Amino acid sequence: LERDAVLEQLNAAVGAGALVLTANQRLSRTLRRMYDEAQARAGRRVWNSARILPLAAWLRQTWSEAALCGGLEPRFLLSDCQAEAIWRRIIESSPESAELVGVREAAVSAVEAWRLMYAYRLPWNEALFAAHDDWAAFFRWAAAFRRECDEHGWIDEARVADRVAEAAATRCIPLPPSVLLAGFDEFTPQQQLLLDALGSAGCAPQTLAEAPASPEITRTSAADTFAELGAAAHWARALLESGASRAGIVIPRLAALRDDVERIFEEVLHPERRSSPDAPAPAAFHISAGRPLSAYPIIAASLNALELGAPGLALNQAGCLLRSPYLAGGDAEATSRALLDVALRRLRRAEISIDTVRQFATRQDATYYSPQFAKLLDACAAVRTGFPKAAPPSAWARSVDLMLQAAGWPGDRTLNSVEYQAAGRWRELLERFASLDIAARDWSAGRAFARLRELAGETRFQPEDEDAPLQIMGVLEAAGASFDHLWITGLDDRSWPSPARPHPFLPLSLQRRHKLPHSSPEREMEFSRQALARLKSSAPRIVVSWPEREGDFELRPSFLIEAAPFKPLSSPPASIRRARLEVIEDAAPALAAERASGGVSILKRQAECPFRAFAEFRLGAKPLEAGELGISPADRGSAAHRALELLWARLESHARLMALAPEELERIAAECAREALRRDGLRGSEFQRRFVDMERERLARLLLEWLQLERSRRPFTVARREEKRSFEIGGLTIDGRIDRVDVLDDGREIILDYKSNAPSVAAWNGERPDEPQIPFYAISNPSMIAAVAFGQLAPGAVRFKGYAEQEDLLPGAKSFPGAHDAADYDSLEQLIAAWRPRLERLAADFRAGRAAVDPKDGDKTCSNCHLGGLCRVRDTGGGAAGEDGDGA
Ligand code: SF4
Repeated sequence: LERDAVLEQLNAAVGAGALVLTANQRLSRTLRRMYDEAQARAGRRVWNSARILPLAAWLRQTWSEAALCGGLEPRFLLSDCQAEAIWRRIIESSPESAELVGVREAAVSAVEAWRLMYAYRLPWNEALFAAHDDWAAFFRWAAAFRRECDEHGWIDEARVADRVAEAAATRCIPLPPSVLLAGFDEFTPQQQLLLDALGSAGCAPQTLAEAPASPEITRTSAADTFAELGAAAHWARALLESGASRAGIVIPRLAALRDDVERIFEEVLHPERRSSPDAPAPAAFHISAGRPLSAYPIIAASLNALELGAPGLALNQAGCLLRSPYLAGGDAEATSRALLDVALRRLRRAEISIDTVRQFATRQDATYYSPQFAKLLDACAAVRTGFPKAAPPSAWARSVDLMLQAAGWPGDRTLNSVEYQAAGRWRELLERFASLDIAARDWSAGRAFARLRELAGETRFQPEDEDAPLQIMGVLEAAGASFDHLWITGLDDRSWPSPARPHPFLPLSLQRRHKLPHSSPEREMEFSRQALARLKSSAPRIVVSWPEREGDFELRPSFLIEAAPFKPLSSPPASIRRARLEVIEDAAPALAAERASGGVSILKRQAECPFRAFAEFRLGAKPLEAGELGISPADRGSAAHRALELLWARLESHARLMALAPEELERIAAECAREALRRDGLRGSEFQRRFVDMERERLARLLLEWLQLERSRRPFTVARREEKRSFEIGGLTIDGRIDRVDVLDDGREIILDYKSNAPSVAAWNGERPDEPQIPFYAISNPSMIAAVAFGQLAPGAVRFKGYAEQEDLLPGAKSFPGAHDAADYDSLEQLIAAWRPRLERLAADFRAGRAAVDPKDGDKTCSNCHLGGLCRVRDTGGGAAGEDGDGA
């Protein structure tokens, strides 16, 4: 719409006392702002505020005013949230609920079908609905809903327009002198009836402005949706840099792509926020689609805080609460609470009791001493003890308030604008939640809090900033908006028009006869044409685009845009997902000490990626432990190592193994498995105890299976178990622990490393070995070595994997010459000699501070690493820290 023409019409209408009704909330705000700015520009200091509001809001307002002055039958108007709760209760108690995958989804869909029934004036013809189970179920639910509304004197928003139309026709409600309509592509039959009634009552509605002169339209395409969004973002940036102040981008699938859109536009329009995300700069763009309210950290904290004071907490939830700044003392105890989180994670339990958290938090001598957190736990527990068994939602809303007060939510610091607005929406949400008394009287705490979480997830919230020079919108939100430049994305032949999607609860014949939205390809075509025509009237300069591919599908432009002249993208945008950072080459300081803690893992990490070794062993950037249900793989592995150590402490040699009777071996294996699993922390709940019992039986069977393999070997004596060894290599002293060393009759030794899933022996070879432990033990071993091997401890697959000097020395080991992956070496001795310089170089590099972001196998290596956010490998395009690899 031409801005001046709009303003002229708006001024005239408002000056004459007209009511302006818009298709959506966004347009109401825009027109109101335009009108107010025009008054201010005209030098007025005071003026009557314009009555501009969305049609739905006017209907609600009119209903309330008319009910007060007796112009309409007095009925209580249900909010959307209340109506949905009633639908949900009706569906839950219906026989069909047992067949439903989700009652909530069914209720949302039923509310929509109910609204369409009234909006398109569909007949309630039971015979038509009886033809399909889903239609019939909806018909019965709708009858129950109508009955319940009549019994209680309620009305819902789907029917308000009909009543207001009746009242307008009989002039028993106050009406404005005239009505101006803005942003409507079409009117439903129900809306048309209302407009007709207003017309017959003497206030015939007018429509705001006509389309401007033909816009200049160009057509372009990009490789895929991300490239298309990236191109649009670069186009917008160029416009804003040239001084444009009113640009728009329409993205038909905005709700689904919202997070990607935000990321891409942030990277292009606000690159400065990469390094300082909280920089207080005005936003260049505003996205009309909101994120779920529960996704905002301040709201996530309030929802998590509802669990405070419960007997147990999921470990991750405890971590979120401990790291949250939105609870009392969150800033003052930020460090100690983060350390407390680390300490609790070391317990490796999936769930943690509040008593344990309190005990840890009150240890005065610990680095994680967090007395304020302990205090808020007690305060929340006290509130929780007052919880009733069952109560209506309004009572639970008060309990939520008390819990949050006890937790000190939203924290001690001043909230920024986004947090402040989100907290405001949370309070509105609590009011909506409290209003659900109409549908429920006896919710348990669990059910009430689950519903509150659902509501927070369903509520979309976007901080207001419609002054931003670039507006990013969906198709419907763009209704009535006007820009200097507009880009419309996603206009490919599969989506524009999109395939028909008839409503599942309404008879298809009815939907097609009454031309419901999405009911047929023809209806979709009509919608696409109308929407595109409306968008084309929104700006004098327009770009339309489509992605050339989506997954395996090749896409073409929608035929609705084929007539526009094609202009290829002038310069393909730099890849948005791999935008490069400035890389400064700067080696880390060399290690001052000659000894490094971390053991042989230092060499493993240095080979894998030098930056990872540096970050983990010099910066201490270790991943947080995750809680495990039952026994973690790490605990299982340690128990197996410990059990084998105990086992060989008793058996000592192959000869004794062969001498023992099977029953005796079974008894020893069972005792060793029991002893190995006797560890604090493994036992706890009854649930945990059962896991430990099962693991004990599994481990005992595994030991016996392993001993069967050992029996097939040549005679040996176990000389050393879990032997600690320090060895100086490449100027660095590294401490290691060898699982086991056997001695043969001739004095030569066999080095063994137990693994639950052993890799191939190739993992020891190459310049950057994946598994340098065995090579390290081999080069540090003072005696002659006859074999080196992994001992794979996997039920049904116990075996040795390794190298041996002779063929029958160790079952499964490769012998020389011609050993697999070591064909260049004639003997094990030669291979071990080749390992030495490689390990020396890795150790020397670590000591020298060589910390390049240089993953050994690119993405494959990075996919097993937790440090992507720290090393920024994706931002730099992968290991781009310099060929010489000194970047840190
Ligand atoms: S994510 Fe990749 S590049 Fe970054 S530290 Fe880990 S392995 Fe190295």
